[in-house]
Amino acid sequence: MAYGELDVLKGVDLTVRPGSVTCIIGPSGSGKSTLLRCLNRLVEPKGGTLLLDGDSILAMKPETLRRRVGMVFQHFNLFPDHTALDNVMLSLTRIKHMPRGEAERIAKARLADVGLASRQHHRPGGLSGGQQQRVAIARALAMEPEVILFDEVTSALDPELVKGVLNLMADLGGRGMTMVVVTHEMGFARRVADQVVFMDEGRVVEAGTPAQIFDDPQSPRLRRFLAEVL
Ligand code: ATP
Ligand code: MG
Repeated sequence: MAYGELDVLKGVDLTVRPGSVTCIIGPSGSGKSTLLRCLNRLVEPKGGTLLLDGDSILAMKPETLRRRVGMVFQHFNLFPDHTALDNVMLSLTRIKHMPRGEAERIAKARLADVGLASRQHHRPGGLSGGQQQRVAIARALAMEPEVILFDEVTSALDPELVKGVLNLMADLGGRGMTMVVVTHEMGFARRVADQVVFMDEGRVVEAGTPAQIFDDPQSPRLRRFLAEVL
């Protein structure tokens, strides 16, 4: 994967098991976001193979991809002029072509799941950052995707709101949602991940269980990184 002349990802080989949580860690600029953006084709890789349950992601129709791969971003990316309920309903009516009544029923249920039943008629501007991020998560969940990608979803939140969102994500992981999570929250990665992937300079330097990555790092680069962030 390249931005113009800049080759960002240099041969990444990664398998995510159904029902597992994969946390991707690594220094700024190592290509973590770019990897996620390849997985849902916000950027198009120059080469390589990306498979979702055996189907080529690169050959998938955009609408199919939007149904099968969910994404939650650092800055929520909600529609500011729509209520929380509408934000969750819109993907269902537009991408899944669901009748409004059914979409509303599902959207209300998912907002209740993330603790926002009483806030469904608020617009994003009338919600806290943590609540906005819960709406974004409810929106991803409502689509019933096979995997949800999270890119530093707590980085823009006030410290006191981070824990609630992380707990919600841990909950989802515990209930068998397949998740790929780019995060700087090492505690979360250690506690929740089935697999931790350390990236540097566009490569996967090391991957393993949280115990392997955090307690027994093999590469000098990962040891240095952990010494800086832990
Ligand atoms: P961070 O932890 O800071 O979010 P990251 O690991 O997510 O970093 P990426 O955003 O994937 O890193 O960036 C990888 C490389 O690609 C960096 O060198 C970055 O400057 C470059 N890059 C990212 N987005 C673009 C873009 N839209 N155009 C050009 N270069 C980009
Ligand atoms: Mg990033």
